Amino acid sequence: MKNYDVIVIGAGPGGMTGALYASRANLSVLMLDRGIYGGQMNNTAAIENYPGFKSVLGPDLSKDMYDGATQFGAEFAYGSVENIEDHGDYKIVKTDDGDYKAGAVIIATGSEYKKLGVPGEDKFGGRGVSYCAVCDGAFFKNREVVVIGGGDSAIEEGLYLAGLASKVTIIHRRDQLRAQKILQDRAFANDKIEFVWNTNVTEILGDDMKVTGVATKNNQTGETGEIAASGVFIYVGTLPMTSSFTTMGITDDAGWIKTDNDMATAVPGVFAIGDVRQKTLRQITTAVGDGGIAGQEAFSYLETLKDKTASAQ
Ligand code: NAP
Repeated sequence: MKNYDVIVIGAGPGGMTGALYASRANLSVLMLDRGIYGGQMNNTAAIENYPGFKSVLGPDLSKDMYDGATQFGAEFAYGSVENIEDHGDYKIVKTDDGDYKAGAVIIATGSEYKKLGVPGEDKFGGRGVSYCAVCDGAFFKNREVVVIGGGDSAIEEGLYLAGLASKVTIIHRRDQLRAQKILQDRAFANDKIEFVWNTNVTEILGDDMKVTGVATKNNQTGETGEIAASGVFIYVGTLPMTSSFTTMGITDDAGWIKTDNDMATAVPGVFAIGDVRQKTLRQITTAVGDGGIAGQEAFSYLETLKDKTASAQ
């Protein structure tokens, strides 16, 4: 079984920063991810709130972070983590492709988009229903699309889609957005974007092949209706990707991982960073900050273990 000082699970911005800090401290580091490095950054067109760049493409920033993370010897391997076994001074990380041993583990698995849970959503997945405008937006060039939600993702992706689609209708369940003010202002000023307020989508409609629109209900008046669209983009929040860690006693009731200010979880030697943590601001910048702390704290933890072993001899 391959043995590392630190295993980082998830190679998004947090995970890659954790790997950078730990490997630069001369630790052997493995980043494990079930997909390509970069995480959700790969699905983001323009990132405008990462310091040092006026605007940067998500995949470009991912590649730069990866090059930075691996320059001091951190390795990358594909693998879907099934669970972490805690053996006190060492951990076994079990994946679908074999097991690895580590002194410390940093969980950086992030979050995934929540489903809306209405009829038609699963049926038309990949046939008009999408959770990624950057991946699928080009299919809807000069067509009408609907975006559901009122947070940063809905508005940011709605703005991206407005550059491709002929019309973007953003349907929100309240009459106020929770997205950042700068995104709101841009969306309100965009001629191609129309808002439908106080409205729930009750069904995704389609023919045998593809989406044709959505059924709606105004939650103030009870009025029902339909909005025609070729694409439906759903951004109604995120869920933590922690199903592999639920038996470790480190998550809250909603599944987010609880940590202290040093990113330590309730299990010594297991740290958690980025979007998967219980926290209020989920951003690339905050994930990167978490990663730096966890990389350094993993180093300190392993030093303490070494001291303990030396004094026991
Ligand atoms: P979010 O902030 O949780 O917003 C989810 C939106 O969906 C809310 O407007 C919510 O309505 C609505 N919603 C939730 N359940 C719904 C339902 N069943 N039916 C209809 N609408 C529903 O999620 P997010 O926008 O995906 O953002 C996730 C995190 O990533 C946030 O921390 C966000 O700040 C961050 N993020 C940041 C950026 C950036 O900085 N550029 C970009 C993307 C995401 P209510 O408002 O009524 O609750």
